[in-house]
Amino acid sequence: MLVLSYLIYVTFFNIFQKYKNLLYFVLFYKFIYFCFVKNLPKHQDLPKHQGLRNQLVKLIRAKGIKDENVLRAINEIPRHFFLNSSFLDYAYKDKAFPIAADQTISQPYTVAYQTELLQLSEKDKVLEIGTGSGYQTAVLINLKCDVYSIERQKELFLNTKKLLPKIGFVAKKLIYGDGYKGLPDFAPFDKIVVTAGAPKVPKALLAQLKIGGRLVIPVGDKIQVMTLFIRKSEKEFEKREFDHFSFVPFLKDVNSY
Ligand code: SAH
Repeated sequence: MLVLSYLIYVTFFNIFQKYKNLLYFVLFYKFIYFCFVKNLPKHQDLPKHQGLRNQLVKLIRAKGIKDENVLRAINEIPRHFFLNSSFLDYAYKDKAFPIAADQTISQPYTVAYQTELLQLSEKDKVLEIGTGSGYQTAVLINLKCDVYSIERQKELFLNTKKLLPKIGFVAKKLIYGDGYKGLPDFAPFDKIVVTAGAPKVPKALLAQLKIGGRLVIPVGDKIQVMTLFIRKSEKEFEKREFDHFSFVPFLKDVNSY
């Protein structure tokens, strides 16, 4: 027994001697990693990102967006925080991009277009249907609105609920649920925006608008017409139609995985 213990000891000692430099290196690397790398802020907004945003705003302005507050919000919000960091290069292209659960972060121009149609004022109570990545939500919060947002995909809801406060955007309520029903418990709303393509306009959403309130909703199956409803009285709505867009579909009920 004694001899066996001695042999084990000698073997381990020899191995240690042989690889001790490697072991010290690994320990040193771990130390540096925990002291510096791990604590680096994950969400950094650098001058190069601001430069890319300036270009993006120029492009959106050239495409016809005029509302200076909307353009300022696009200029201020780091869109790259809303994409997986490996897709950084795509964050400031004027394009929709895949996010989790087979959904997309809307094209910046589309976000600006819908936001402009809402004609927001500070403190407006806004209902957003389709939280998705949270980028449109952040634009609404940046414009000093009280934002209630609903998402039917559990994975997206959980991701975005964690992300938004971490990067400084605090919504009034982020809800996991079916936007077809709106949010009767918190109605009426000054403004409602639907960020998915709706085959039909849900009556519940019209019913949850204040008088004078606006609903912006892309209506259609594969291609949608951006549609604005303005509530004129208890029973009367003015309907206006704008350009064509292509959104992911507005689906009924929640998806629980
Ligand atoms: N504004 C988001 C857009 C995401 S795409 C962004 O820029 O990231 C549209 C979103 O609407 C998707 O996340 C989709 O899951 C969600 N959606 C579709 N039908 C819905 C419904 N009935 N209720 C709530 N969200 C819905």
